[in-house]
Amino acid sequence: MLEIKNYINGELVGPAEGRYLDNFDPATGQVYSKVPDSGGVDVERAVDAAGHAFSAWSRMSTAKRSDILLKIADLIEANADRLARAECIDNGKPLSLARSLDIPRAATNFRFFATRILHSQSESHAMDYSAINYTLRRPRGVAGIISPWNLPLYLFTWKVAPALATGNTVVGKPSEVTPMTAFLFSELCIEAGLPPGVLNVVHGAGAKAGQALVEHPAVPTISFTGGTKTGGTIAKTAGPLFKKYSLELGGKNPNVVFADADLDKALPGSVRASFANQGQVCLCGSRLFVEAPIYDSFVERFLDASKKLRVGDPLEPDTDQGSLVSKAQFEKVSYYVDLAKEEGGEILLGGGPPAPISDRCKEGYFFYPTVIAGLGMNCRVNREEIFGPVVAIMPFKNEDEVIEYANATDYGLAASVWTKDIDRAHRVSERINCGTVWVNCWMLRDLRVPFGGMKQSGVGREGGEEAMRFFTEPKNVCVALRDA
Ligand code: NAD
Repeated sequence: MLEIKNYINGELVGPAEGRYLDNFDPATGQVYSKVPDSGGVDVERAVDAAGHAFSAWSRMSTAKRSDILLKIADLIEANADRLARAECIDNGKPLSLARSLDIPRAATNFRFFATRILHSQSESHAMDYSAINYTLRRPRGVAGIISPWNLPLYLFTWKVAPALATGNTVVGKPSEVTPMTAFLFSELCIEAGLPPGVLNVVHGAGAKAGQALVEHPAVPTISFTGGTKTGGTIAKTAGPLFKKYSLELGGKNPNVVFADADLDKALPGSVRASFANQGQVCLCGSRLFVEAPIYDSFVERFLDASKKLRVGDPLEPDTDQGSLVSKAQFEKVSYYVDLAKEEGGEILLGGGPPAPISDRCKEGYFFYPTVIAGLGMNCRVNREEIFGPVVAIMPFKNEDEVIEYANATDYGLAASVWTKDIDRAHRVSERINCGTVWVNCWMLRDLRVPFGGMKQSGVGREGGEEAMRFFTEPKNVCVALRDA
């Protein structure tokens, strides 16, 4: 059985203690590879390698650094089919989604930051004729990067690319649930000629390898994407050590459809926002609010469209919905659907696993797209992140009411608003408390804009400029031009 390796100081190596965890294919429920169960010794070696590589990497010419990162982007693209297949098997998502979204976006992350650094600008402030201030931005050293399982390579590279581009070296800890693409990516970095130690990848459990990375005194920067509870643990560890950290956390996003919306766009857009990647995207709209005059007809059309999603073997080209990522995730989603019934919800669609998919997938963790009506705003199902193909649908009377509903959770990651009224689009966007509002669209991503959440959806922002700033330290130099 394939043993995944850590990538430390330019080499692929086994874990120091020789222990491995099982890596499951969630579509079949079978173990298909072994992932290192790394610990403090592995993290120590990786941080040491990254520390040694820092001086040369941070002082390498920007053009040369950019060339190496562009080579990595080229190699991701050249290996896109292999990477997409690996991600599909690791994660259970449809191969078509991995091929069209995750892998191309991973290459784009590298291309974006590799070229962005070629056009950097710096700030200077003249104080009349007495002095001039200028701001130097320098990489902060070894960055610790911790990523989740839902978009494994895309979210890992979203952090690794700006960290490396700005001259930091990195120790990355991908999710132990989906380690395969980060492993293949390590091989591509070697092929691209990335100098040893510049990027190190340590696989293993969060509480062990992840925690050791966050605690390490020689890692001043922590960039984390994952669950809100884990984010709290990381903040508790990193805060007293005065580390700089960014936390991209969970969401409970509202998707708001006004009666004047173009339903030919709002309907398929809402289906995608509800169920893409089996609802396992932090940005998925898990609360669907529909203005009262069109509620009944919208629900009917929404259910019809959702029924047409093909739940199937993730490797089949026409599959729309693959399996959930793990048994644990299947149990969590099932728990919340049972809770919805206890809370008075009516299951309009789905509510459990589909009929057996195929002999190959008979033990996989599939869950049918599920639509629930009749839940109040204070129900736990309407407040807590489920992270599965489950959407709660509700009518609303007017703009004020839906803004109150939209803001009635502890999260504030993203929202969608569907309307043809331009004034209302701006008004509502301004009043929903979240990091991103999409108007008449969902999950359109421009890498230049700030990305992240408010409230319990996160601290800090990532995205073009914000990421460049996050991974660098500003230093102001004040030069007197004449005696004070
Ligand atoms: P998770 O918090 O369980 O794990 C995320 C990562 O943290 C994994 O690599 C894990 O091993 C590691 N980890 C766990 N405990 C740790 C600890 N004590 N110290 C250091 N590292 C630790 O999250 P998950 O289940 O992998 O991912 C799903 C969650 O991620 C959802 O809540 C989703 O909303 C969120 N998410 C957010 C965004 C965003 O951009 N805001 C994007 C994708 C996913």
